[in-house]
Amino acid sequence: MSITPLMPVYPRCDVRPVRGDHCHLISEDGRRFLDFASGIAVNALGHSHAGLIGAIQQQAATLMHVSNLYGSPQGETIAMRLVDRTFADTVFFTNSGAEAVECAIKTARAYHQHAGNTERFELITFNNAFHGRTLATISASSQDKMHKGFMPLLPGFRYVEFNDLEAAKQAIGPHTAGFLVEPIQGEGGIRIADESFLKGLRALCDEHDLMLVLDEVQSGVGRSGTFYAYEQYGIAPDILATAKGIGGGFPLGACLATEKAARGMVFGAHGSTYGGNPLAMAAAGAVLDVIADDGFLAEVQAKGERLRGRIEQFIGNYPELFELVRGRGLFVGIKMKVEPRDFVAHMRNNHGLLTVSAGDNVVRILPPLVIDDSHIDEFMEKLSAAAASYQPAEAA
Ligand SMILES: *Cc1c(COP(=O)(O)O)cnc(C)c1O
Repeated sequence: MSITPLMPVYPRCDVRPVRGDHCHLISEDGRRFLDFASGIAVNALGHSHAGLIGAIQQQAATLMHVSNLYGSPQGETIAMRLVDRTFADTVFFTNSGAEAVECAIKTARAYHQHAGNTERFELITFNNAFHGRTLATISASSQDKMHKGFMPLLPGFRYVEFNDLEAAKQAIGPHTAGFLVEPIQGEGGIRIADESFLKGLRALCDEHDLMLVLDEVQSGVGRSGTFYAYEQYGIAPDILATAKGIGGGFPLGACLATEKAARGMVFGAHGSTYGGNPLAMAAAGAVLDVIADDGFLAEVQAKGERLRGRIEQFIGNYPELFELVRGRGLFVGIKMKVEPRDFVAHMRNNHGLLTVSAGDNVVRILPPLVIDDSHIDEFMEKLSAAAASYQPAEAA
């Protein structure tokens, strides 16, 4: 037998973390890394956060799981906090981002079909989007590499160019149920939606009675410097998928919706065994205690500006390597002039710095939201040492 016990779907690197220490990771072989990947925008509070650990430990000892057959005081509390903090009137809890997007897709379809408009099932989505790895969410993405081997795709998705409002408008037809879009594309390379684009999609939805569905699985929960990125656009969605940062490392996602958008999500329409169990809700509570706070979010914005400003200044020294820096809050991308994966590996292996590559030749910089200026200093030191010692030809 040659297949590994762990199904070999991930090209895992040779860092094997066994312990977290605030904004650092320690590997099996004792190496220490500055973690500016945060489990792909998940560990918003860093590692070993006392509030999060305490909440999970206490809840684990009290009540972990009961299923959704019973009343949920724990779920009601967290749902109410999300409702109070956002556009939403109602929340469905999931265990992951893809499930949150699945629920969002179902909610958008049900909005129309509940009213008898059974022909309106199609969501218009955007090139280079990433919505997850379930069959529906790969079908929602235009990326062929995620489709290969898994045909046929689920019908009901149509792809157009990101930030092209005219193309989005032209794509509307008798089957259209709404738009599904990341306000800031994460896997796609920290590509930021233009304000006129999101505002335009909102206006098209209002005009044609369509659902504006935002995928904020990566951009949400403070990552972009506001609680959700849509707040920076002066619009509100009808439906929003959130996950990643919301559990701070505990697997949790949620689908948020207005009362109007959720009209089809009636008794029996949807469900999840684990979704929103007391343990997950305890984790979410600890995360919200820190992040759903205007002072904290203002700090994320300020730290993001300092970080991007310093990267901007620095990359001018290496015009052959780096093209530009972009992002919002601590959701930052450095666009390279070369394929970024070798450089990401070089930073990791030779300079103890963890980042994540993305589309469009981008290195994603996703620090814990709780970093301070000493971590920004350490990051800049490691980045500059890595750039100085980088030999693209040798690495390739
Ligand atoms: C990560 C991600 C997902 C999928 O989340 P999983 O928890 O991996 O299922 C969906 N949408 C976006 C924008 C993401 O970044």
